[in-house]
Amino acid sequence: MPNLRSPERVLFLFVDGIGLGPDEPSNPLVNVGPHWARLAQNASWTCDTPPVDRANHLFRGLDATLHVDGLPQSGTGQASLFSGINCAKRAGRHFGPFPHSSSKPVLASHSLFQRVQPHLAPDDCAFANAYPPVFFERRAARDRWTVTTLCSKQANVRLRSTSDLRAGHALSADIVGSAWLEKLNIAIPQLSPAQAGRQLYTLMQQHRLTLYEYYETDKAGHGRSTLSPATILSRLDALVGGILESFSPQRDLLLLCSDHGNLEVPTQKPHTRNPVPFVAYGCGAQAFQSATSLIDVTPALCTLLTS
Ligand SMILES: [Zn+2]
Repeated sequence: MPNLRSPERVLFLFVDGIGLGPDEPSNPLVNVGPHWARLAQNASWTCDTPPVDRANHLFRGLDATLHVDGLPQSGTGQASLFSGINCAKRAGRHFGPFPHSSSKPVLASHSLFQRVQPHLAPDDCAFANAYPPVFFERRAARDRWTVTTLCSKQANVRLRSTSDLRAGHALSADIVGSAWLEKLNIAIPQLSPAQAGRQLYTLMQQHRLTLYEYYETDKAGHGRSTLSPATILSRLDALVGGILESFSPQRDLLLLCSDHGNLEVPTQKPHTRNPVPFVAYGCGAQAFQSATSLIDVTPALCTLLTS
């Protein structure tokens, strides 16, 4: 890697289930909002989008098939993305949505958090998502974790809760907080997506590496969301807009990546084998210059944060 300056702060926006699909009207990512378009040098997000390769800005598709037949799944895809090790190959198949048994030891020793933490100050890694009481009750009753919550638990990265949301130190999984109020009857601040973006940027400033996961995109791709793809993408667009308001490309680094395609082909409910979008915007973006697959993201980020 060339002599790259390490970013002071990294925000990793993980968006489940979006791929770079055909440039057709049915593909919701043909109509991304202005902030997402800016991340692709003012283009829509399809397989025809020209890659961006600038000093402080990369946009490209990454292979999510991991050279394994079948449709990519969240368990092995996310484990591969967040460890840099091909967990689909290890499992012998794509597996999900929860981590495959063969992925758990990989994450225990090689997750992004595990790899960077020894080189950073305590509390420098943050997982920005907040979880409601029912999540913690269910985990106590049944030891079943998603990839991101397992990575956090294994590395002692705190899982945030209602009090963090009320203090503005976390984001809800739906960005705006309405699901907590309407489905869980828990009073938390209701945010516009842009406010949520500003809040996430403030949180990012308090840690070296902040991860936020959004999965309504995958639910919508499966036809299981109450929100339309257009609403979801406009929320994500405004979230990024809020992040970028105070963002310093000279100091900060924004990463955006998915684990497999889905939402870009609304006519089929299962996942797709399309490449997934990858954005690196800001300080150190060129560290990902040779990334071609999901497994290339975490090693490059670890090198950037620990060298
Ligand atoms: Zn899915």
